[in-house]
Amino acid sequence: MDSEMENKNSTPSVPNCRPGKETIVVALGGNAILRPGENGTFSEQMKNIRNTAAQLAKLILRGKRLVITHGNGPQVGRIFQQQEVGARFGIPEMPLYICGAMSQAQIGFMIQQALYNELIMAGCNKTVVTLICQTLVDPNGKAFSNPTKPIGSFYSKKEAQKAMVEKGEIWKEDSGRGWRRVVPSPEPQGFVEIDAIKLLIAQDIIVIVSGGGGTPVAQDDHGVLTGVDAVVEKDLGAQIVAQIIGAHTLLILTDVTNAMIYYQAPEEQKLEKTSLAEIKRYYRQGHFKPGSMGPKVLAAIRFIESGGEKAVITSLENALLGSEGEIGTVITR
Ligand code: ADP
Ligand code: MG
Repeated sequence: MDSEMENKNSTPSVPNCRPGKETIVVALGGNAILRPGENGTFSEQMKNIRNTAAQLAKLILRGKRLVITHGNGPQVGRIFQQQEVGARFGIPEMPLYICGAMSQAQIGFMIQQALYNELIMAGCNKTVVTLICQTLVDPNGKAFSNPTKPIGSFYSKKEAQKAMVEKGEIWKEDSGRGWRRVVPSPEPQGFVEIDAIKLLIAQDIIVIVSGGGGTPVAQDDHGVLTGVDAVVEKDLGAQIVAQIIGAHTLLILTDVTNAMIYYQAPEEQKLEKTSLAEIKRYYRQGHFKPGSMGPKVLAAIRFIESGGEKAVITSLENALLGSEGEIGTVITR
């Protein structure tokens, strides 16, 4: 037996790191990794992820069983830009979906290491793994004629127009924050690796899954898979994970404390404890923007409708209170 193994087995189990009954699927927003105004250097991203890991560790040390998912919009967009730049030097470009898989590994690795460290410093020795996921999508769905998912950095209107003319890309203004490229965002239908996800959870392993919504793939009549150039909304991917594993709570952590109605209008109002019927009405009335708050609210609605107990949308700083339904937009039946 190697010494590390011996050490792990002889360490008395830390009482505060035993999982209780509650399973929470946490969906981490872009700000868990990259903050507004930052350039996105490795050290900036790692610092943010360490802060995120500290928030997640609080939940684990309270006995909550976590399954972690995360966004990849800025990262997948930048990896794609790196392909474009590399091509000018003769380095072959990889397709967008491969960039998606790269972003799962890149972000997953950082979270995996930071969370492991955070827990071990608290005396809690747990295995954390990233599982590169393939998300089943319909390659002929309507998402492909109407791209909605912003990727990459924010640019000015002038730069956006240049890319639209020169590269034939589609760019849109994103919630008053600037212009971003948009790509098709098909509905996630399930995960190829679902049995592996369930096995890892059952073994009390903390698993990072469906990063960036997972890498979109289509399956033919013989079961054969092929990649699809698109980016799935991580919030919708998180909901499918939560539904399939029968999680109690879907916790969506972003950069605002609450979902709002009349967002950015004078009559703007926070949503706190909300019923399913009420939030469905607001969703239908178009209070939540597509590509940002829209998919979060939709994920919350679908989770509760499929039998989940509680869905919460709040900011990363409020992870623990949010998981208990004490803060944020809390949706129950
Ligand atoms: P994440 O990376 O966490 O998924 P997004 O940018 O996709 O973050 O979504 C969060 C953003 O949604 C907020 O920063 C806000 O600008 C925007 N937003 C759009 N509609 C609303 C709304 N009705 N209430 C609150 N925020 C909204
Ligand atoms: Mg988002």
